[in-house]
Amino acid sequence: MNARLTRLRQTLARRPLLGDGATGTQLQQLGLLPGACGELWNITQPDRVRQVHQSYLAAGSDLLTTNTFGGTSCVLAGHGADQRVHELNYAGAKLAREIAGDRAWVLGDIGPYGGMLEPVGDDLPATVELAFRQQATALLEGGADAILIETMSDPAEAALAVQAARAAGAEFIIATYTFQKAGADYRTLMGTSVGAALAAVLAVGADVVGANCGTELSLDDYVQLTAELAAATAGHPLMVQPNAGSPRYVDGKICYDESAAQFAATVPRLNTAGATLIGGCCGSTPAHIAAMAVHFR
Ligand SMILES: [Zn+2]
Repeated sequence: MNARLTRLRQTLARRPLLGDGATGTQLQQLGLLPGACGELWNITQPDRVRQVHQSYLAAGSDLLTTNTFGGTSCVLAGHGADQRVHELNYAGAKLAREIAGDRAWVLGDIGPYGGMLEPVGDDLPATVELAFRQQATALLEGGADAILIETMSDPAEAALAVQAARAAGAEFIIATYTFQKAGADYRTLMGTSVGAALAAVLAVGADVVGANCGTELSLDDYVQLTAELAAATAGHPLMVQPNAGSPRYVDGKICYDESAAQFAATVPRLNTAGATLIGGCCGSTPAHIAAMAVHFR
């Protein structure tokens, strides 16, 4: 294991780590059109991607997430860019590494591949595993310290992604799901319980597990969800990255209501509930991260 990764494990054993905030909504502020391929910006607008990473580093993030959420061949195919998996992911990891240096760790970001595995859908596990493995390989070659698999709904897909990242050589793998409220507790979009979802990725060797995003979940919900997650981590570290509230449309623009102060106030509650890697998802900004940072030093 390289020295930076050893330091990541040692630091995490000593204190909570601060993630970063949204990438997509930040790039949209810099001109990325909704629905456009953000990963292309790793090549065409590298300065704007650097600017997002730089603003999170300056805000105090310990972890920078690469701009590669939709970087599988499956998602890139929708933009006619499925032949550019290695180029776009490698470039994305390099940009984050460049800004992070040795001051932050780089999480190579992998989101859902965008389809349905058999038997629910038609996609074969081997095909999807290969897509995740190609992406993870490029992220690691570009300088990612760890792989972050996030916004997952299907435990079979999440487990495949963990296995693919491991096969690509990742030594530190984080797997987080998006949950929604289901009566008194929380389930993924596929209806999987918290316990079953985490067990699926822990069984194939995820190092860290948790939750991110969730358009209906308030910060209070996230505190409750975190307690439920903490009971199912089997001793592994827990990561949570809530949205800045539910997205609302105001004058044709997406708005998020949870303020930086509300995020900051929630950090100790998430930490007490068991989370030791804490960041933000959609709608969270460098201002949110900067406000949270007081709890991480
Ligand atoms: Zn999100």
